[in-house]
Amino acid sequence: MEAKDLMEKAVKFHGHICPGLAIGVLAAKYMLENGFKYSPNEEVVAVIENDNCSVDALQVLLGTTYGKGNLIHQDYGKLNYYFYNRETEKAVKLAIKNKDFGDKKLSKMERVQKILKSKPKDIFNIYELDFNPPGLAEIEESIPCDICGELTMNNRLMFYENSTMCIPCYRAHRK
Ligand SMILES: [Zn+2]
Ligand SMILES: [Zn+2]
Repeated sequence: MEAKDLMEKAVKFHGHICPGLAIGVLAAKYMLENGFKYSPNEEVVAVIENDNCSVDALQVLLGTTYGKGNLIHQDYGKLNYYFYNRETEKAVKLAIKNKDFGDKKLSKMERVQKILKSKPKDIFNIYELDFNPPGLAEIEESIPCDICGELTMNNRLMFYENSTMCIPCYRAHRK
């Protein structure tokens, strides 16, 4: 698929056109052309170190989604993307080189166009990594919190003053 078709698909999902989304489209396009494909299950996992607009392009174009658990956000605020392909055991890191994406005098639409026409290696430092993916998404039983009664994943419950509590209830009680 051409960059502009991928962008169109991403915009439908994301809601607006922006340079951040174009960066994500360029990243997804590079991955699709280099041994990765859309992931209906957890064949591909993406680990991202930022949560900006670009992430939506990865979700819709690579199928690495928050809900499936094959999109993992490490809140480091770094403009890095890691992709792991469990079928081919390949791992690739893309690290954004230049946060301004070229000329600041360009309008938003001109920047989007410029990004979409860029070669991935002009935007990203690209590294092949050893294959060392995060684990598969965990499936945990949900149990009601003793205080609020709301269903909570077992591995997030806290035990405090003889009660099993969700994190917000634990924080409220601890004071
Ligand atoms: Zn956006
Ligand atoms: Zn609770």
